[in-house]
Amino acid sequence: MLWFVLTTGACNLQCRYCGGSFDERHSPWRPKVAAGEVARFIAQRDGKPVVFFYGGEPLLNPHYVVEVMEALPNARFGIQTNGTLVRRLPPEVWRRFSTVLLSIDGPQEVTDYYRGPGVYRRVVEALRWLKDEVGCGCKTVARMAVGRRSDIYRDVTHLLGLGFDAVHWQLNVIWTDEWGPREFLRWAEESYLPGVRGLRDLFLSEAERGRALEVIPILGIYRALLVRPYDWVPCGAGRHAFAINTDGRILHCPIAVSEKWATAGHIRIGLNGAAPRLRDRCLVCEYRHVCGGRCLYTQYEDYWGEEGFDAVCQVTKRTIKILEEEAPRLRKLIDAGVLDPRRLDYDPLLDSTEVIP
Ligand code: SF4
Ligand code: SF4
Repeated sequence: MLWFVLTTGACNLQCRYCGGSFDERHSPWRPKVAAGEVARFIAQRDGKPVVFFYGGEPLLNPHYVVEVMEALPNARFGIQTNGTLVRRLPPEVWRRFSTVLLSIDGPQEVTDYYRGPGVYRRVVEALRWLKDEVGCGCKTVARMAVGRRSDIYRDVTHLLGLGFDAVHWQLNVIWTDEWGPREFLRWAEESYLPGVRGLRDLFLSEAERGRALEVIPILGIYRALLVRPYDWVPCGAGRHAFAINTDGRILHCPIAVSEKWATAGHIRIGLNGAAPRLRDRCLVCEYRHVCGGRCLYTQYEDYWGEEGFDAVCQVTKRTIKILEEEAPRLRKLIDAGVLDPRRLDYDPLLDSTEVIP
């Protein structure tokens, strides 16, 4: 089971897609529940928990991170951070992490436009520090938000070139004013989908050498096409993954701090048994075994309306089809013993990724 632990509702940045801190009323900036209480709640339910620190910016509260880690000696740990405060944890703590997601969108001009001046340089410094000085054995994942200024092929290959072990992205759609469904579709046609095709070809050329390139949307979709399908949204929200908010509430999804449908219980009371569901259109969708319904939050909160949901589905289906075209070639590489199928058996719950952009 994956557990997100929010250490604060505050953030030290104000990126364009998200605007920064949560409202204190929904996610207090100082936790109202002790780290030990959170750890106990997790330990009582899960003998092998995967715990990801989340916020706000989780490293604004480094002591909480350390306390939870000390109280859960058997857990696997990860963190989603904007990378600007990495020195707030000492090297020996970093060496306990299995996965570190650093938010970065691509080259400097793209990252700094969306996240603020100087952010790119600080994230690259953080990556170098973790890899070269700390000796963090963790998997480093570049966590991108992709919008109008992104060129997916250029940006993903740039981040791989910086030395990230993996790259994952989410499209900035549905809860944004950056653009609307029509402009998004035009951009997808002209720039994004051709870029996905290019990344697929890169993935295949690596597969021919026995390697599974960790471009997570591609790896995670091939997992569903060739190894095992998804039975739910790949992020696991509400079934295989829960978030513990700084007020002690348990949430189906870590960003849903104010939405009533997303409250799954409280650590002092337990889980309330509420089972979120997908829309009917997902239940009958021919790609549900690959897409899983994409994002639970979007199932309930669709700021762009039906037209927007449709636009994102169209792009999701096109992405899957582009990868599906070359699935037989990958199958042949597996059958010929060139590619070990276990390398395609990606588990997004170990990295806290959503797979479907
Ligand atoms: S492609 Fe759209 S309709 Fe199909 S499962 Fe995904 S979100 Fe649901
Ligand atoms: S993909 Fe959607 S439901 Fe899943 S964690 Fe992200 S926002 Fe929440």
